Amino acid sequence: MNHFERKGGELYCEEVPLAELAEEVGTPAYVYSTATLQRHARVFHAALRRLDHLACFAVKALPNLAVLSLLAKEGFGFDIVSGGELFRALKAGADVTRIVFSGVGKRRDELDAALKAGIFQFNCESEEELIQLSEAALLRKTRARVAIRVNPDVDARTHPYIATALSTSKFGVPAARVRAAYRKAAGLSGLQIVGVACHIGSQVAEVKPFVEAALKLRALVERLRRDGHSIERLDMGGGLGVPYGESKAPASPSEYGEALSKVLRGLDVKVIFEPGRLLVANAGVLLTRVLLRKRGAGARRFVVVDAGMNDLLRPALYGAHHELEPVGRPRKPAELVDVVGPVCESADVLAKRRRLPTLETGDLLVLRSAGAYGMSMASQYNARPRPAEVLVDGRSWRIVRQRESLDDLVRGETV
Ligand SMILES: *Cc1c(COP(=O)(O)O)cnc(C)c1O
Repeated sequence: MNHFERKGGELYCEEVPLAELAEEVGTPAYVYSTATLQRHARVFHAALRRLDHLACFAVKALPNLAVLSLLAKEGFGFDIVSGGELFRALKAGADVTRIVFSGVGKRRDELDAALKAGIFQFNCESEEELIQLSEAALLRKTRARVAIRVNPDVDARTHPYIATALSTSKFGVPAARVRAAYRKAAGLSGLQIVGVACHIGSQVAEVKPFVEAALKLRALVERLRRDGHSIERLDMGGGLGVPYGESKAPASPSEYGEALSKVLRGLDVKVIFEPGRLLVANAGVLLTRVLLRKRGAGARRFVVVDAGMNDLLRPALYGAHHELEPVGRPRKPAELVDVVGPVCESADVLAKRRRLPTLETGDLLVLRSAGAYGMSMASQYNARPRPAEVLVDGRSWRIVRQRESLDDLVRGETV
């Protein structure tokens, strides 16, 4: 459920007409709903109420400080994958005792910054990383709390670019070597083993792969305890999918919560979750304006808009589907069009073969479900300043990231 609805025919975000925002802020712009973010945050916690859990929002999905701050107030910690994300989380007022550091490659300065901050847990993904982290911790006269991310070898049945638990993936320690990795970690005096971690992929539609992973991890926790390790935490990662509107809706948070609660009951661990997309995807839209209509060869019709693949990469990168609709009063769909951006790449198609009303120069459109991996993947490709970000709350709204200026494009450069 989200708070982007029509009133009197016009599309609103909560109590604010999107047309008014476009007038005031310009386009392209990302618009997020506070009410939707809060709702999703609360639904997630409620779904997991039967487990002793810690929910850490995956910062990479939507790293805006205002959004991080809102989620921190909802009791969320953060899953970070870089020193930059640590910086953002701390700036947003994160509780450091709720920060988990994931990722296959962490630089020494990033490890140092996280050790200095005193984060909750490092999720290590290789034997080599365990050694590097232990060294860094010893130099700081501390011990790093560590979980090893295991690759549970389950098929999450999602897009190959966002499946992370196949045996061919770069992520995690292969299940066959994981006990040896724990033995190695136990012998490193800069480390304190606290748990086991996994993350099977993103936009996972079914509960089954999560259950499969949880069963494997449960068995692993028991095995590692018999090996003499103290395992108090189990990190299930993120990855539950969201409805993008084009196909069958994925499993709901409550189905996910119920299934995992059943599998993990009585294991005596704190269960960590790292939801990203689920919390923010449908809490945001990308607002864009029609630049012109263009006739292609034969019957091909293009609508060229002022947002491009540099602003929203998902369609170009994964062939992702975003629902697209005019902001103004709905009119009858009249033609089949490709909605494209101005970027000089043939991949710069935001929506293919959509049936839309005849659009004119200046008409406003939204791409829905653009809150996750939207602005966070935006670039300045083609020297295009990145969009503004707006957070709506009831009748009020504020710019939570200014549109980039031309000076922003050349910041730090010299002739
Ligand atoms: C990306 C990522 C997540 C979040 O994935 P979503 O599909 O957005 O929920 C969680 N954990 C790790 C380790 C990740 O890399």
